[in-house]
Amino acid sequence: MNKQLQFYSTNLKAGNLSFHEALLQGQAPDKGLYMPVKIPQVTLQEIDSFRKMDYREIAYHITKYWLAGEIPDEELLRIVKDAYNFEVPLERVFERKYVMRLDRGPTASFKDFAVRMMARLMQYYLKAGNRKLLILTATSGDTGSAVANAFYGMTNIDIVVLFPRHEVTDRQRKQMTTLGKNVKVLALDAKFDDCQALVKQAFSDPGLAHLPLSSANSINIGRLIPQIVFYFYSYAKLAAAGEEIIFSVPSGNFGDMMGGVLAMKMGLPVKKFIIATNENNEFPDYLFSGRYSKIEPSRNCISSAMNVGHPSNLARLVALYGGVMDENGIIGRAADMDLMRKELWSVSITDEQTRNTIAESWSRSKLLLEPHGAVGWAGLMQYIRDEGDQLAKDQLYVSLETAHPAKFPDEIEKITGMVPDLPPGLMGIDGKPEYFADLPNSYPDFKQWLISETRDP
Ligand SMILES: *Cc1c(COP(=O)(O)O)cnc(C)c1O
Repeated sequence: MNKQLQFYSTNLKAGNLSFHEALLQGQAPDKGLYMPVKIPQVTLQEIDSFRKMDYREIAYHITKYWLAGEIPDEELLRIVKDAYNFEVPLERVFERKYVMRLDRGPTASFKDFAVRMMARLMQYYLKAGNRKLLILTATSGDTGSAVANAFYGMTNIDIVVLFPRHEVTDRQRKQMTTLGKNVKVLALDAKFDDCQALVKQAFSDPGLAHLPLSSANSINIGRLIPQIVFYFYSYAKLAAAGEEIIFSVPSGNFGDMMGGVLAMKMGLPVKKFIIATNENNEFPDYLFSGRYSKIEPSRNCISSAMNVGHPSNLARLVALYGGVMDENGIIGRAADMDLMRKELWSVSITDEQTRNTIAESWSRSKLLLEPHGAVGWAGLMQYIRDEGDQLAKDQLYVSLETAHPAKFPDEIEKITGMVPDLPPGLMGIDGKPEYFADLPNSYPDFKQWLISETRDP
């Protein structure tokens, strides 16, 4: 008999839950984030056996560690097969440096990996318990479309997406606003951090306790577990047995890199994570100094999905290294900074560097990157320069490309002179009608809207 894993809140003031309870709840009642009490361990031998498997089989084996006893094996297998019906290309750039393209899902960003699995798990548990959910999600561009697309048409779940009106591209907006049905979209005169703050306030508002609210943002543990898989996948496909790999992860809210760090703590041989941020450099500063201060308001960069001045998942990272950070970024107990610096390396990349990276990697290596992936790649190049990595030629590196270049056609064309081909998921949306409401950046207005929208007619 498998024992269920337990999840605790990073604020340490809420009870432990099983995975499916934490999944349906989203944020803990004490405003903390759920983290595993114990991290399941994978052996090198099992990692070696992944070599012959496709993405879906690896996803099944890895997520099974986390969901043991919570879902029948055949259901889990059905869910991963249904969720991962697209390619995960590993593109060699030069030497043993690779880009992993996580942009082949239906909404062309890596968010599809987490959200498609999470949506299917939620639906499974809701149907079993005959329950409903109202999912609130703040987006800096890509979460909204991934969530809207993944949950679109599900009967037990309604979706409300909040996005910063001036910080998403036309194409990103249309990916959310052209759906309709159970997907409601709100444009706010605000920044992403404001949208996220409104959502968090709604979760802890007793005046909304009658609504079955949950979250699809990366505060939900259900978003992180699927993101562990692609680290194992790329390792299994590229590494020699037991060899140590270095990943470069372009980061905003730190959900992606948390998936990677959890993979390492499960036993994946990782030498280092390069955490590349845009000009929102609160994390590299913290890693260097041990002191944390958020950036308010967050800085506008062309890698807009990473314009985050206070990443919610930092609380999880700090917890993993033995510290406590609350939802406002106040550190109650210091993390083991020495261990963190041994395992993580971080750098902030300016917009100018991002543009130069897109131009250079295209002209030199025919590597087409969009702004987020370019931040990751620039971080990798910077690491090799700064650390004078003697072994750079033989060292295996994988840099994550988190969106499809066609999501940012104007920027890519300006820099490279070419217009990226549209992936299938982005075709046909340009001419469709859009549905969304406008709201000011105000909690009372948002609450009012939620109450009137969810009132039974
Ligand atoms: C969300 C997003 C990121 C940042 O991921 P986090 O998990 O928030 O760090 C990077 N690139 C793209 C394209 C994204 O959509």
